[in-house]
Amino acid sequence: MSIGVAILGATGSIGASTLDVIARHPDHFRCVAVSARSDIDGMLAICRRHRPELAAMSDPEAAATLAARLRAESIDTEVVPGEAGLLAVAEHPAAEQVMAAIVGAAGLLPTLAAARSGRRILLANKESLVMSGALLMDAITAGGGTLLPIDSEHNAIFQCLPSDFRCGEAPAGVDELLLTASGGPFLDTPLEQLAAMSPDAACAHPNWVMGRKISVDSATMMNKGLEVIEAAWLFGLPAERIRVVIHPQSVVHSMVRMADGSVLAQMGEPDMRTPIVYGMAWPQRLDGGVRPLDLVNAGPLDFREPDLARFPCLLLARQALQAGGAAPLVLNAANEVAVDAFLAGHLGFTEIAEVIEHCLTQAASNQLPETVDGIVAMDVDIRRIAGEFIGGPEGRRRHA
Ligand code: NDP
Ligand code: MG
Repeated sequence: MSIGVAILGATGSIGASTLDVIARHPDHFRCVAVSARSDIDGMLAICRRHRPELAAMSDPEAAATLAARLRAESIDTEVVPGEAGLLAVAEHPAAEQVMAAIVGAAGLLPTLAAARSGRRILLANKESLVMSGALLMDAITAGGGTLLPIDSEHNAIFQCLPSDFRCGEAPAGVDELLLTASGGPFLDTPLEQLAAMSPDAACAHPNWVMGRKISVDSATMMNKGLEVIEAAWLFGLPAERIRVVIHPQSVVHSMVRMADGSVLAQMGEPDMRTPIVYGMAWPQRLDGGVRPLDLVNAGPLDFREPDLARFPCLLLARQALQAGGAAPLVLNAANEVAVDAFLAGHLGFTEIAEVIEHCLTQAASNQLPETVDGIVAMDVDIRRIAGEFIGGPEGRRRHA
């Protein structure tokens, strides 16, 4: 009997790679439930190909249109609109695994619901861990399921750890985690040109093809900052023992330095199907359709220290992790608003860090709420502060 997989964020980049892995292994996996926000054509194509039992669209109008188009083609996938639909996908009774691949804070509630329901959680939505790591890790424990990291760096580290390691524990014998970072499209761009960089330039990642939000995060290196926080939760280590190393070729996906001096690395082509198929097949191994790594032709592998003057977001994220409390939540919410504004042409590239810094200063002493409702309310509040800074009378830069 094949394993049922539910995909939150099925129309996105991670969603597409997950569906590709499922399609390669119809004897192992079947797609039972999918969600999206508003991409009707994308969902229709998925329903035609995979015939899931359930399709959720958070945009109610999109859900109604999808339902009508499915009816017209006599496809009997049930469509559920709104937040209730996302939760129904997260808790679908036929899903043994849930791929959490909605982008941003919108993924928090469904990811938490999936965690509580005791399935295998394949975690791509790093923002939910950054916002509320304790709640999510507690939900996994309470649900009795397993959390497997899909983010390539964390998946690499997981692969380097002993086979009985489970996320949330502190791994024995580990001195330091080395998170590799490509440095994104602006690694060597003259500093004085950064302010004028366009959304398309920021999204033109040299090695990975990804959604636009994470692509901008890679260009600012906020992505690596979020990943440092993600690693702290997954691997139970403090910020000082999580080091970021620039590695422009994206061949080494991350490393673990052990107490005895051994450094273990996981390598491969930059293709998210490797961590995805690893998480789905774990503890077995399956082919994910990834091109074999050819080290002879990969060229020299370079490693260098990140330049924090070029990448202030990385520094802000480290400071937020060290400050603790609500600081990571504030960092994440401010970043999401700033990246949206940048992608919409309302904010310059280097102003993203300024918005985040402003919000961190405004909310420096906030306690992290203990409930999900409290976390969602604070997320909304920080978004308001960020929005006012960008667009209101206090804002210093006006582009729109
Ligand atoms: P995409 O932007 O490509 O896809 C996002 C998905 O989430 C789409 O299915 C989208 O639906 C859905 N979505 C967006 N907003 C909402 C919302 N408000 N409510 C419900 N659904 C929503 O993102 P990626 O696939 O690139 O990234 C997904 C997650 O995985 C992110 O958290 C990212 O950090 C993480 N990740 C991604 C990697 C990558 O290589 N892409 C690598 C490592 C981590 P619709 O299409 O209808 O808008
Ligand atoms: Mg990553």
